[in-house]
Amino acid sequence: MFLARVRSARLPLFSDQGLCDGTSGAIGERDEMNGFDRGYEIPGVLWRRDPAGDDVPLVLDSPHSGSIYPEDFSFCCPLPILRRAEDAFVDELFEAAPEYGATLIAAVFPRSYLDVNRAADDLDPGLLAAAWPKHPALRPVTRVGLVRRYAQPGIPIYDRKLHPNDVLARIERYHTPYHRALDEACDRLHGEFGAVWHVNCHSMPSTGNRKLGRKGEHGDFVLGDRDGTTCEPEFTEFVARTLRGRGYEVRVNDGYKGVEIVRRQGRPGERRHSLQIEIDRALYMDQRTLEKNAGFDQVKADLAALLEALRGFIAARV
Ligand SMILES: [Zn+2]
Repeated sequence: MFLARVRSARLPLFSDQGLCDGTSGAIGERDEMNGFDRGYEIPGVLWRRDPAGDDVPLVLDSPHSGSIYPEDFSFCCPLPILRRAEDAFVDELFEAAPEYGATLIAAVFPRSYLDVNRAADDLDPGLLAAAWPKHPALRPVTRVGLVRRYAQPGIPIYDRKLHPNDVLARIERYHTPYHRALDEACDRLHGEFGAVWHVNCHSMPSTGNRKLGRKGEHGDFVLGDRDGTTCEPEFTEFVARTLRGRGYEVRVNDGYKGVEIVRRQGRPGERRHSLQIEIDRALYMDQRTLEKNAGFDQVKADLAALLEALRGFIAARV
């Protein structure tokens, strides 16, 4: 079913067979390597890992780090260029989350195939070979919508227009289950604790070059709460302060404010708090080769410290 599994050694929860045969997910399988005994996968779509005990109402998700390219993608541009759209390794940077009582969900398909951080009707009609059959009509609201047309400016992903049924199938197979998994995780914790905190994890392209002592144009981290509408201000301030305490330059709602996922999850009036976090890619990877750089382990350790601090922040509020 799937064309390529680009980073083959990175998903310890799953067997090779389970990932590639397209069968339904194995629920509750114990992962001997990591000791997690709660979680599940939907092969080709997502995986979810839950803490083994002592959980706090904290959910993280990584919607853009997937690198399993579906067979029906049929892109015509070079794969290395297409892969630069991935938020590579973000799932791995946060993989300690269950050790700190949090649930972690990650997409395994690439965001260039379908972007779950867009509404299902946020689609450019110019991409389609025929009229969109659904009502209400499409509402393209972001510059790069649900299904993107270009790998980079001037480099189209497709040599054809897409049939609306193919786009609808992508929504049904990938968009719907991803949001369902995230909703279920957040709803369960909110029901149990009366509140839930959610971190939507991303990385941002960078002009920085740490070897030359140069930072990217957006600093090290950008936090986005859609101008204070998706979480209590204390959550944003706490994450910013914790990261600054570890030496990072952190900006808030500056260039990256958060898009569909924090908009959907964030309802601070109901004690549902959702915050987007963008990490400068040059901190942890080579953006041309998509390989980890020497900074990776330090960033991962600093994010584990953030997770530990968040556990304390949340425990004091429930
Ligand atoms: Zn992203």
